[in-house]
Formats: sequence, C-alpha cells, structure tokens
Amino acid sequence: MDKKLDQAKRDLVIANRILAMEGVVDAYGHVSVRHPHDPTRFFIARSLSPELVTLDDIVEYTLDGKAIDDTRPPYLERFIHGALYEKRPDVMNVIHAHAEATLPFGITKTPLRPVTHMAGAIGATVPVWDIEDKFGDATNLLVTNREQGLDLADCLGPNRVVLMRGHGFSAVHSSFIGLTTMSVYLPANARILLESLRLG
Ligand SMILES: [Zn+2]
Repeated sequence: MDKKLDQAKRDLVIANRILAMEGVVDAYGHVSVRHPHDPTRFFIARSLSPELVTLDDIVEYTLDGKAIDDTRPPYLERFIHGALYEKRPDVMNVIHAHAEATLPFGITKTPLRPVTHMAGAIGATVPVWDIEDKFGDATNLLVTNREQGLDLADCLGPNRVVLMRGHGFSAVHSSFIGLTTMSVYLPANARILLESLRLG
C-alpha cells in the first residue's frame, strides 16, 4: 500500500467532515488535495455533501477537470481546484465554499482583513473576483469551466484567500491542517469584523 497516498485520501475525508461540522461548507462546498506523487492530478469527492464523504467517494482528477476511471457525477465547480493547482505549484490543498459571513465583503468590496489572532493566516490581502468583469452579466456566478477557474486563480495571485462576488470564497494552503484551520477562522473573522464595523 502507498502510505502517502492513503494518508492524503484519509485526510481529505477528515477535512470534509470537520469543515461540514464547523459550518464552513454546506451542501455545495468542497475541499481537495493535490496528488502527493503527481502534481498534475488532484483528489476530490464525487458530487456529495461534505458531511457524507467517505473514502469510497474520493475521485482522482486531471487539472482540467477530467475524472480518472470514475463516471459518478462530479462537482460542477471542480475547475476551481484544478486551476488553482495549475497556477500555484506551492499549493497542496484547496477549498471552495459559500460561507455566508464572507459574502457582504465580496458584494461591497469592503476589505476583508484579519482582525483576530487566529485569522492571521488569511493574509493581509484578500482580493475580490467578480466573474462579470471578464465573463459578462449572463453567468450564474458559478465557475463552470477551466477558463473561469484560471481567471479566478489570476485574481488570487500570491494570496491565500479570494472572495467571489455574490458567491463565496476559494482558498489555498500548503497543508490540510493549515487550510482547515484557516477556513474555520475565515467566516468567524468576517463576522467579528462586520460587528466591529457596526460599532465604528
Ligand atoms: Zn460555489
């Protein structure tokens, strides 16, 4: 058995469960891991609520979103993951979620900055990607192809978190523990910042 590969898949299942329990991903969010031996592949669950994901649900994909030996329905927005791995060789883990607390910042473009000590990992700069800028106002705001994913990755640049206007956020990290921790504290930080702004 390939221990490193097995561990990556098991960690992916655990990350799904933690992020679901913490309310970061709802039925539509997803998390992934780059293949530990092949940087041109990644693992993500088949289309399934993260709280239900088990080892049997983990599928291998190419960076352009094609499943390897699996015909079960994929996540529509898997292109986010492939594009971020393609543009960021340093990244080992990706999350995309619709956590509501982050939405006001993407909609108003009020800077989402870390204001608590546990949220420092999100970084000083959190860019906002507006799908309308390049793809017009007739999209459903979702990332449904590689071109949109690559544009999102360009907006993320060297940062860890990118907000997606009217939709949610995507984030990257070099480890599962780092990604999961950051993703739990990102919506919490957004709520605290919003309350602080209300108090002036
Ligand atoms: Zn989405």
